[in-house]
Amino acid sequence: MNSSQWVDLSNHFSNQNIKAIFSFKSFSTEGDLGRKSLAIASGFNPNSLIIPKQTHSTNIKFISGSGTVLDTDGIFSTNPEMVCSIQVADCMPVYFSHKSESIFGLVHVGWRGLVNGILAQSAKRIKEKDFSLLDYDILIGPSIQKCCFEVSDDVVDQFESGFVEEKEAGKYQINLQEMAIFELKKLGFMKQNILSLNECTYCNYEKYHSYRRNGKKAGRMIGLLGYNLNSFSYILTPLSKF
Ligand SMILES: [Zn+2]
Repeated sequence: MNSSQWVDLSNHFSNQNIKAIFSFKSFSTEGDLGRKSLAIASGFNPNSLIIPKQTHSTNIKFISGSGTVLDTDGIFSTNPEMVCSIQVADCMPVYFSHKSESIFGLVHVGWRGLVNGILAQSAKRIKEKDFSLLDYDILIGPSIQKCCFEVSDDVVDQFESGFVEEKEAGKYQINLQEMAIFELKKLGFMKQNILSLNECTYCNYEKYHSYRRNGKKAGRMIGLLGYNLNSFSYILTPLSKF
């Protein structure tokens, strides 16, 4: 199910029950209301949203009930009734879904989160629950790509050198997506299960908001991830007749 205002990314995941959504610039509502409207439009229960208040931290939490979660940049859940949500504009929306079980998460990975270890924190939280890292499909959604992500001398040392290219004196382009994939693989996720859409939010100005392009007034895209309750209600229908 797609619309002109958002894309359904579910077909990138092998878990048949998972539904992954990402909104475009044309979906103009944001914040809590935007997440609720997008949930309704894409067939999720708007009352099941988990809403992290993102702070470019490396805080990752497993959450079993809906509502707001303060100072958190990544949410995982094992409750198939819950819907993880995030907002981004250039930062990477990273979707995690176990291939068969109800374990899923959505992580907001900006360059600061990446260099500060937010992916390592995600792996740590998963392992704390005694879940293996081997069976996850991981999707990196639309985000600023190497073509447009440039940094200066002051911060370039924080990035893995293999993903840095000097463009001109004192200016460097960084491939954040490749660096994220490298990190995920190093942490123990399977490289063949990781996909980056490689869509640049900065270049595609008609399709996406971009913080680097538009500054503080930039809008945000919304990512949602949860179980497709339509498939549940289908399975549960015979029981309700009992
Ligand atoms: Zn670009």
